[in-house]
Amino acid sequence: DAAKALPRGVAVYSGAMESRSVHRLGLVPELRRAIEQDELTVHYQPKVALATRELIGVECLVRWNHPEQGLLMPGEFVPVAEHTGLIGPLTRWVLRNALAECRRWQDQGRPLGVSVNLSARTLQDPDFPDELDQLLADAGVPPELLTLEIIEGGALTDAERPLATLRRLAERGVRLSLDDFGVGTSAFSYLRTIPVHEIKIDRSFVLGMNTDAADLGIVRSIVGLGRHLGLSVVAEGVESERALAHLEEMGCDIAQGFLFARPLPQDRLESWVAARTESTTESSGDPSGES
Ligand code: C2E
Ligand code: MG
Ligand code: MG
Ligand code: MG
Repeated sequence: DAAKALPRGVAVYSGAMESRSVHRLGLVPELRRAIEQDELTVHYQPKVALATRELIGVECLVRWNHPEQGLLMPGEFVPVAEHTGLIGPLTRWVLRNALAECRRWQDQGRPLGVSVNLSARTLQDPDFPDELDQLLADAGVPPELLTLEIIEGGALTDAERPLATLRRLAERGVRLSLDDFGVGTSAFSYLRTIPVHEIKIDRSFVLGMNTDAADLGIVRSIVGLGRHLGLSVVAEGVESERALAHLEEMGCDIAQGFLFARPLPQDRLESWVAARTESTTESSGDPSGES
């Protein structure tokens, strides 16, 4: 698998990138062990309903507690996993943990949706929908509490298998979300061909909205598009009150970003929720968490 993926990668990398990618490929055996030995961890970032400021779900974001290098972010190892066949075990690990957490909230009488990111690679795996069924059954979580965030990518355009996988996933009742919406090329054709429930406006537009009229216009258009199609629209990268005010005025449904909370370890998420329940102030969440 690694050998298959390598030549294509090397061909597009510059010299500097190449040595860096080789360095990162040294992570492969370590990453395999990390998955087996639970060195991975999931951080949870709140998704907040704009109308009520209520917590409506969390995005599950993987990190690697590396014994020597400390906390590694997904950008440092998810691409390695994608190119070596470790993405299957990694995705299953994240799903198992996310669904267990979802189950815990349900048991406490506070059902909370969880969102998990899927790599395009996973959609090439014809066994994935059945594996997901098993994971949902093992955890005892109803499929509608799970949202799968898919990054649109050129690689997926016109590819039959990923689209078939997405349809099979949707048939099982899980929600599908188009992540980083607006920066890829296939967004509109996706909306035609797969049963999407949610779109997440790419954070670059949301971050630029305060200073760039084009970004503001793009965000407004995507919110309108989502409303016309009856989809939930999530703005990611909400860092300022000003951006939040714009989004409210546009009628955006859901916001996620540092203004509310950074991705938090499980115990910090609990305290964040407790603190919000106690106080009626609507100002930002826990400024600790990741920096
Ligand atoms: P994403 O799915 O678009 O996740 C949102 C990213 O934006 C997260 O970065 C989050 O920390 C960051 N973010 C959230 N709010 C703000 C904000 O207000 N301002 C700014 N500047 N950034 C914000 P993170 O955790 O480093 O994840 C990066 C990407 O890695 C994710 O982007 C996702 O594509 C991928 N990823 C994360 N976990 C997984 C996973 O379990 N599986 C797969 N396949 N990919 C994952
Ligand atoms: Mg995401
Ligand atoms: Mg995103
Ligand atoms: Mg992203």
